[in-house]
Amino acid sequence: MQRSHPVWFCLCFLVALVSVGVYATPWEQIQAPSNQSPQAIGSYANGCLAGGNPLPLQGEGYQVLRSERTRYYGHPNAIRFVQSLAQQAKRELNSVILIGDLSLPQGGRFSTGHSSHQTGLDIDVWLRLTEARLSTQQLANPTPLSVVDIDRYQLVKPRWESRHFELIKMAASDEQVARIFVHPVIKQTLCRSEQSNERAWLRKVRPWWGHHYHMHVRLKCPPGSVVCQSQAEPPQGDGCGAELASWKPQPKPNLAKVTVAKAKKKRVKVMPEQCLTLLQTRHL
Ligand SMILES: [Zn+2]
Repeated sequence: MQRSHPVWFCLCFLVALVSVGVYATPWEQIQAPSNQSPQAIGSYANGCLAGGNPLPLQGEGYQVLRSERTRYYGHPNAIRFVQSLAQQAKRELNSVILIGDLSLPQGGRFSTGHSSHQTGLDIDVWLRLTEARLSTQQLANPTPLSVVDIDRYQLVKPRWESRHFELIKMAASDEQVARIFVHPVIKQTLCRSEQSNERAWLRKVRPWWGHHYHMHVRLKCPPGSVVCQSQAEPPQGDGCGAELASWKPQPKPNLAKVTVAKAKKKRVKVMPEQCLTLLQTRHL
């Protein structure tokens, strides 16, 4: 029999490594929350979660996507927030909301996707609104509904509903919410759609790339979480003017140089001590 080529051997070895999850972060190997009082620790993109709660997979007005990834844990405030937003959306918008990532059982870094969601205070709510509940199979492999034509930098009007406006406003009006990230085109749409003088909620809605098929809700540090690091408040005003306009892509001839300059500035993050302790005492 012919011996297999060394390249094939290496490839197979790599595939095997990936399939057993060697590249997962240590946080992804933790199956349950710690048995402590609830604490969001550190910053949204460099922290962890003690005493987290699971979002119940069955609940009124919402469904949980891709639950096999166990990213449905959060600080109790986040769990209550989702439950009450879902109940209000069901009552007022006749919609079931689809919940994407919250945090891992003890927070920390994901190996794929975003770098935040580490402290149990970030929640992704999809913009695909449904009246009927999805099947188990659809929840495990959901189809996103983007409301933005990225290349043209414009809204996909047939997909945008007034319910999207209402849902984002509903979430932003909650006192516990610090920020909501949406694609700049969505923010622009919200700015134009708000007909009343009630524009304070728009200050919390922040433009950010991605976020064209989901909104990312970020809660404030809960009062009892003494080592939770807040972000500075968003700039004054509704954020609908020059700042928003600056997001519109412009041709950048010197892009390569800019990228090199930025790469040099990147700093290594040091994990908060309390998170290191959680990792050392984890029960797999
Ligand atoms: Zn997110």
